[in-house]
Amino acid sequence: MKTMIAGKKAAHLIELEGKYGAHNYHPLPVVLERGEGVYVWDVDGKQYFDFLSAYSAVNQGHCHPKIVNAMITQARKLTLTSRAFYNDSLGIYEKAITEYFGFDKVLPMNTGAEAVETAIKLCRKWAYQKKGIAENNAKIIVCEGNFHGRTTTIISFSNDPDGHNEYGPYTPGFELIPYNNIEALKKALEDKNVAGFLVEPIQGEAGVIVPDEGYLSAAAQLCKKANVLFIADEVQTGISRTGRLLAVNHENVKPDILILGKALSGGTYPISVVLADDEIMLCIKPGEHGSTFGGNPIAARVAIAALEVVHDEKLSENAAAMGEIFRAELKKIKSDRVEVVRGKGLLNAIVIKPMNGKTAWDVCLALRDNGLLAKPTHDHIIRFAPPLIINKEQILEAADIIRRTIEGLDK
Ligand code: PLP
Repeated sequence: MKTMIAGKKAAHLIELEGKYGAHNYHPLPVVLERGEGVYVWDVDGKQYFDFLSAYSAVNQGHCHPKIVNAMITQARKLTLTSRAFYNDSLGIYEKAITEYFGFDKVLPMNTGAEAVETAIKLCRKWAYQKKGIAENNAKIIVCEGNFHGRTTTIISFSNDPDGHNEYGPYTPGFELIPYNNIEALKKALEDKNVAGFLVEPIQGEAGVIVPDEGYLSAAAQLCKKANVLFIADEVQTGISRTGRLLAVNHENVKPDILILGKALSGGTYPISVVLADDEIMLCIKPGEHGSTFGGNPIAARVAIAALEVVHDEKLSENAAAMGEIFRAELKKIKSDRVEVVRGKGLLNAIVIKPMNGKTAWDVCLALRDNGLLAKPTHDHIIRFAPPLIINKEQILEAADIIRRTIEGLDK
């Protein structure tokens, strides 16, 4: 099987990154230069299905014309004012996004990790101002296997050694409990200093770990009873990825604090938000939190367009329908290599058993050679998360590539 990079140009560009860039990533050897819809093209003109979608940022498809137009139009007019002044886009965006997700207020940031940091700060403020926890004693419960970003505070409560080790001293105030374990949560909530429960409705980076049905709604109820904020990190699962607008919608849960990022711009721009009702959001006062770029006019116009696309193109419905087809096709693969197929909507994964010296990485190289891009997570898991605009013909073709590739490895 051919696994080498074809062209000299690609090899040169990979070499440049290796020589001049920090080695904090290990990309699959493919060099992309163009994207449209569900496809990307490499510098040699080869076309691929994009089954990573920039970790679920490109839900609306690559370079969606409506989103790109919104960005260009605004970029020609006004790009950044900072929040020192009002601008003619932010209020319109704030009204649109709060109505879209059903919250009183939004706090705009840029990256997912910043939004998680914001939610943590907001939760702590609420704890001291409303719940009456003594200052510096607030605790936030988090789950083993979590991935909420890369800042010093966030990696303080990660139990992934790669993300955590040798970055101490760590930020205190977090307690790890097992994911998908309601008894563990119940016990942790006995502590009166608990202010929040921060959770991914499906653990994406951990390898698409889908909790048992009823876990999220039971967790939300327990939090409510204990006067603890239920904080949903939907940076990866939100915006129709799992077949509903939010993954918590599958269990009719309304989080006290909702964190969104990634697909809020359709992958064109770093945009994130924290959403909450007044009782919580108004705990932060002028000067107590902010960001130079958060809520800038381009971000505002881009996010409005990106959310309109999600609604107008019925991406939740499509993700739910295409996800069913996709998982059914993957389950037909005849190979001992595939241990598990799991997921919801178009956030799916297969667990790969290493065999004959071939790992999930080798599977991804072979998929690349056959025209489909995906990336292993945690060595043995491959996530499959195409843009949500994928149609039936395309999903069947992609599933066929995956089947042929995996079955072909055993021949
Ligand atoms: N939260 C979750 C659930 C994520 O999956 C990610 C990124 O993968 C983040 C937060 C961090 O987002 P960002 O990389 O934009 O900081």
